[in-house]
Amino acid sequence: MIRDGNLPGKNITIFEETSILGGSMDGGGNPETGYSLRGGRMLTTDNYECMWGLYKTIPSLHNAGKSVFEETMEFNEKFPSHSIARLVDSQRAAVHVTSMGFTMQDRIELLRISQAHESTLADSRIDDWLSPCFFKTPFWHIWSNTFAFQARHSAIEFRRYLHRFIMDFARFQTLAGVKRTIFNQYDSLVLPLQAWLKEQGVHLLTNCVVIDLDHTTQSEDFRVTAIHYKNQGKAAKTLVNDGDHVFMQNGSTSAASAFGSMTNAPPKQTMDSSVGWMLWEKLAAGRKNFGNPGAFNSCIAQSSWESFTVTLKNHGFFDMMSTFTGNPRGKGGLVTFMDSNWMMSIVLAHQPHFPNQPDGVQVFWGYSPFPDRVGNFIPKPMSECSGEEIIRELSGHLRIDPETTESAICIPCMMPYVTSMFLPRLPGDRPAPVPAGSKNFAFISQFVEIPEDVAFTVEYSVRVAQTAVYELLGIDLDIPPVIPDDKSNVTKLEALIQSFK
Ligand SMILES: Cc1cc2nc3c(=O)[nH]c(=O)nc-3n(C[C@H](O)[C@H](O)[C@H](O)COP(=O)(O)OP(=O)(O)OC[C@H]3O[C@@H](n4cnc5c(N)ncnc54)[C@H](O)[C@@H]3O)c2cc1C
Repeated sequence: MIRDGNLPGKNITIFEETSILGGSMDGGGNPETGYSLRGGRMLTTDNYECMWGLYKTIPSLHNAGKSVFEETMEFNEKFPSHSIARLVDSQRAAVHVTSMGFTMQDRIELLRISQAHESTLADSRIDDWLSPCFFKTPFWHIWSNTFAFQARHSAIEFRRYLHRFIMDFARFQTLAGVKRTIFNQYDSLVLPLQAWLKEQGVHLLTNCVVIDLDHTTQSEDFRVTAIHYKNQGKAAKTLVNDGDHVFMQNGSTSAASAFGSMTNAPPKQTMDSSVGWMLWEKLAAGRKNFGNPGAFNSCIAQSSWESFTVTLKNHGFFDMMSTFTGNPRGKGGLVTFMDSNWMMSIVLAHQPHFPNQPDGVQVFWGYSPFPDRVGNFIPKPMSECSGEEIIRELSGHLRIDPETTESAICIPCMMPYVTSMFLPRLPGDRPAPVPAGSKNFAFISQFVEIPEDVAFTVEYSVRVAQTAVYELLGIDLDIPPVIPDDKSNVTKLEALIQSFK
């Protein structure tokens, strides 16, 4: 709006329910009580056209005269991702993956799903198209844990990832295409953007939840006339005048998420603690153009996983992992324990991961897509485990002594809707950014339809917002196209060769 629509920042207000801005890209803490993040992000420059387009214009907070894009690229030149040990087997051996492990049947089925039209795939699941043996291949172990897919997820979305990330076939075992931020994404991406927005005069209201929208409907036209919200718990209303626009977050993958502690598992939360979902449901009722939230928020058992952040006060664990994986610090990727009932993965990012992190303190992040399963070493579902029990489970997989993680602080985080955008969907379940008939209202989120692009990415959220803004404000500029890597014969050939290794 500011950059391409010439809108003065002071004319823009952001209403945010929580106490900090940045949504899923949170991060905070200290060495005494422990650091925590809901998620750690892998980015890439082969695509992410809109996201880097944005960050080329946002100044760095730490490197004067440089943009966030420039400082991030310089960092990645110094510390390129090159994972040596992506998988760990039941013998605690780092598996050196050289083959995707496909049979001819796997190749044929993969080709079939990648070439199918989305209307044919409809609301089918990935495992409707691929045989059980495919889900035992090294390719599936790595691909599913990199992108957070499960066999039960949408075949349409899986197909889109195959096309969007086809260049990663040839380097899938090293994650060499991954770009990382200097610190966690809250410090490296959210704070610089927030500082820039503040400087532009944008009103940033935190602890401010939007609970309802007044609107008028005349024939097919839909127009928002007022926003109802609670500011620090106090009800308030702001009028939407002629010429104003409203952009609404319809659902969030981190809605209803909750943190635990070293002694307690995270409390269980549901839809009732998510105003965002409820607001979308209310608006979509009886309006086909506004999508179908029920396709995404009806089955927590299918959409949840649990992440955890560990703060360590000695080098033992990081040294052990460097020796074990062969990866110098900060250059490895996700390490997945293939035989873990929880399918646990951890990633040791470059340190410090937080700007205020003292020397001698290290922080790493991990996640498990099956928190409802009993652990291999702790006889409980992960969702019922404290941080201390999660560390014991991880130590069991790594066969390490308790001293290696002595004084560690592990903060678990349950996210009931984290893969809800991957649940099988039909055309129309995700609304267009500006639904037909809307005069001043748009949707922005991972639950909005953008052809070809893939939803579990920062890129998707930026692309949706850019599309919504251009359309509502009538900005006559091109949105960067989704780069068609899958149209390149060289890339296709490399992927084909890799699939026969
Ligand atoms: C664990 C995890 C790992 C991830 N890994 C990667 C990765 O490796 N690579 C990658 O590219 N992407 C990754 N992502 C995805 C990426 O982080 C998200 O796509 C992106 O951050 C979503 O941004 P968003 O602004 O659309 O929504 P969100 O981050 O969901 O933010 C929405 C915000 O809107 C607020 N809100 C909602 N409703 C209301 C209301 N009614 N009133 C006021 N406020 C409201 C919420 O409080 C929230 O702060 C990951 C995400 C998670 C959670």
